[in-house]
Amino acid sequence: MERRKFTKTLITSMGALGLSQNLMGNALLNNNNKKLGIALVGLGNYSTNQLAPALLETKMCELKAIVTGSPCKIPQWKTKYGIMDHQIYNYENFDAIANNSEVDIIYIVLPNNMHKEFTLRAFSAGKHVICEKPLALNAQEASEMIAAGKKANRELYVGYRLHYEPHHQETIRLCREQAFGKIKHFEGGFGFRAGNPNQWRLKKLYGGGALMDVGIYVIQGARYTIGEEPIAVTAREYKTDKVKFSEVDELIVWQMEFPSGAVASCTTSFSASTNHLFVAAEKGFIRLSPSYTYNMIAGYTRGYSFDFPQVNQQALHMDGISNHLINGVPHLNTGGDEGLRDMKVIDAIFASAASDGKRILI
Ligand code: NAD
Repeated sequence: MERRKFTKTLITSMGALGLSQNLMGNALLNNNNKKLGIALVGLGNYSTNQLAPALLETKMCELKAIVTGSPCKIPQWKTKYGIMDHQIYNYENFDAIANNSEVDIIYIVLPNNMHKEFTLRAFSAGKHVICEKPLALNAQEASEMIAAGKKANRELYVGYRLHYEPHHQETIRLCREQAFGKIKHFEGGFGFRAGNPNQWRLKKLYGGGALMDVGIYVIQGARYTIGEEPIAVTAREYKTDKVKFSEVDELIVWQMEFPSGAVASCTTSFSASTNHLFVAAEKGFIRLSPSYTYNMIAGYTRGYSFDFPQVNQQALHMDGISNHLINGVPHLNTGGDEGLRDMKVIDAIFASAASDGKRILI
């Protein structure tokens, strides 16, 4: 693509981004400024350092309750976010949130093995749910969560923030429009060094392991760039520290086959740092590196770099979901069904790794 054309494309896309944010603002005004109330369940790292600060920036939703098993955390949340006594729950009395009309959405930010239980309890309380990734421990659980939402006539969303990130949006657009021809190959990896050996991310019971925690981003990336559903998976698991990673995967390398013949080669690790996405097409490539971070995402293609402003992904994600609930504006592919599709792939990757790389059909 010529430089002029590429620059124009970026400007057009940025215009679209600004427009979508304006539309969200107008939608809010048309709705008498009523923001949806969000309850954060689990006040760990992601809630404390990303979601709660993001909820100070959202236009269509706001923090209206907290659910925590650690009373010592309560004073600082009261001070920082003006949380009042009637907006505070623990894991035992959580179900009483059904009577709190200020809360519309329950955002589940707990260890992975608790996602299903709290999603089902939130639906029983008559609330909509945003559940963090991975949606569940496996596809069976994810299906049960989706069915519970349908039965309760409430929406289920998953915490896939990158669908609201402009570098990823531009990458998806270039792929859908075949700007560089047909996609033949995807290559991606996400890994970091999981330090503390006692953390839940290293325990099987909690649904720990690199694939569930960060490999899922690579599955997402392959699926939304290639734009197809994988039909088969082959995977191998490797360990350099059999003590620390006795219960969960340290490193998995896997391939996904897609109906068009495109192939994705993917890596996830809890002992080495990697963070990238590479799409190889007939006449060019797209690279995001780093790719899955909260900020500083950088994109390149055929000698040009993507130049989008950094955004608050979490704020845009929660506003996008609120806009869907309030005004019926489609969210950007962050529904429970999307979480289920990834769980099916994860099930297949584990099955293949457990059988020394046998090809597993999805
Ligand atoms: P964390 O360990 O920092 O927080 C977990 C919270 O759960 C803590 O407040 C802890 O007290 C609470 N908890 C309740 N019961 C627990 C139990 N039995 N054992 C351990 N903790 C218990 O974890 P986190 O990094 O905030 O991750 C929480 C969820 O958010 C996970 O599902 C994770 O995958 C997801 N996450 C998503 C992103 C993203 O970018 N979308 C980023 C980080 C984490």
